[in-house]
Amino acid sequence: MSTADMSAWRQAWAQLTHEASPFAVTPDHTGVPEFSKAPRTLIDALQVGRAHGAKPFLQWQDQRYTFDEFFRAADQLTAALQKDLSIRAGDRVAIAMRNRPEWMIAFLAAVQAGAIPVPVNSWSATEELLYAIDDCDAAVVFCDPQRYAQLTGLEAETAVVLVDAEPQRVGDYSWPKLLTRTPEEAELASPAPQDPALILYTSGTTGRAKGAVSNNKAVCQALYALEFQGAFAYMTSEERVRPLIESGLQPTLLLAFPLFHVSGLFSQFLGALRGGRRLVILYKWDVDQALNTIRDEKVTQFAGVPTMMQQLIHHERFASEDTATLFALGLGGSAASTALLARLLEIKPMALSGSGYGMTETNGVGAAHSGNQFVAHPESVGWPLPLVQVVIGESPDKPAAAGTSGPIWLRTSALMDGYWKKPDETRAVLQDGWYYTGDVGYLDADGMMFITDRIKDIIIRGGENISAVEVEHCVCEHPEVEEAAVFMLPDAVYGESVAMVVYSRNVLSEADLMAFMAERLAAYKLPTRIWFSDEPLQRSATGKLQKAEVKKAFAGLD
Ligand code: AMP
Repeated sequence: MSTADMSAWRQAWAQLTHEASPFAVTPDHTGVPEFSKAPRTLIDALQVGRAHGAKPFLQWQDQRYTFDEFFRAADQLTAALQKDLSIRAGDRVAIAMRNRPEWMIAFLAAVQAGAIPVPVNSWSATEELLYAIDDCDAAVVFCDPQRYAQLTGLEAETAVVLVDAEPQRVGDYSWPKLLTRTPEEAELASPAPQDPALILYTSGTTGRAKGAVSNNKAVCQALYALEFQGAFAYMTSEERVRPLIESGLQPTLLLAFPLFHVSGLFSQFLGALRGGRRLVILYKWDVDQALNTIRDEKVTQFAGVPTMMQQLIHHERFASEDTATLFALGLGGSAASTALLARLLEIKPMALSGSGYGMTETNGVGAAHSGNQFVAHPESVGWPLPLVQVVIGESPDKPAAAGTSGPIWLRTSALMDGYWKKPDETRAVLQDGWYYTGDVGYLDADGMMFITDRIKDIIIRGGENISAVEVEHCVCEHPEVEEAAVFMLPDAVYGESVAMVVYSRNVLSEADLMAFMAERLAAYKLPTRIWFSDEPLQRSATGKLQKAEVKKAFAGLD
């Protein structure tokens, strides 16, 4: 990377964040940087989507929606939420479906009714699904037939709305019947910027998933940060953006991230809704299907977790005419290998590729880069965004020496308020407005950020976070299990995989154990490698499980 490049990027950054720019950044009353011209409520932020009118917006199976049709359905559902389901401001509306248009309509309707949408991990086992719906005390849950079948044990206070089929249980609502209201009956809510706008469940280090609650302002800041990134890419890599503009194609994204994940929700769905982009939704991830869709639907942008990107760009058809319209490629969700980054740059050298670093708790905001900046430093995650302050060190008031690696703390106007009804867990990660990420990294002399390690005890398999403690708690519920240690193993396909060592006094079969866990945990969290120990697991003098020692003894890895 040349010094000239670096100074041109700095100049573009300064110009874009200058007080006269739409992306002006100023400190808020507590000194945290924010985009001062960003919308203040999610309702306001999403209404701009109406201006895209008759342009195509969504495509899934045989369903098609223009922006007008999408908003019409969302308005009808807003009216139904308010008038048929008596939803009031602040009520939680859970969404438990695979990616499909009704997911997004339910989300917008919940926002417009003043409720708090709660996307639920649709890969959850029944217990996990019921836990999340119960934990957030959902007034309504929208579900598809697969999730409906899991919801038999739900508390009666939660109304259930089923898409795609007639409900079997008395009192449940069918989607088509709710959509008989007229759009004019909807009364758009008017929340305050500090009112909660969103709860996203995330697997942390302490067992069960926790709901990260973000207010309207934080969510809007995160959305606006995406637009800042687009503007910065255009200013610094115009030659990479121009082919898309000159193609005359409507920017079209292949939606592969799950919508319950921060990347799918913000950078794909909500970003497209504001920006007039089309979303083509895959039924489920399948690389051949993805390539057919890119070809047939003239997909212009693809973003995915490294596992998906790896399958896609190593496929023999990727270098063919099938991907001729694919002008932009983005990585997110977890670390990408150097080999994957090299291949990405080699196979589409002129694409607007990029990557970033963020998490559920900051609504995806952290650091990011694309275009020429990404090409110059693919192994970095880019500059921290202008609404983010970073401290590397053991605590935010004790920064490590410049350039040294250490725990990463972030302070940003896109940060969550805390975990839903979990003050202790909130206190464990928030300190005077600083968020403890549990990741390790450093900033180089040019201010570029590098992620080097992870302290928190999670496993990120194909972009999905898995709490090691949650898996340990689950297996220890088995009456024959004395103790267990769950840890990460490197995996060629998913980046990381779940491994487990179990100690039991009696003979236990792996099949029995797996069947026991499969009833309680989502399939992606199940261990793919299990060892049985003949003796209790190594513990320190104070009784703390020595996981690193156990891992070394059984897997032979540090
Ligand atoms: P989630 O809340 O599911 O989005 O997961 C956030 C976590 O994923 C971060 O705290 C990191 O541990 C990891 N992560 C996200 N992006 C990256 C990246 N570019 N490089 C390394 N780790 C990442």
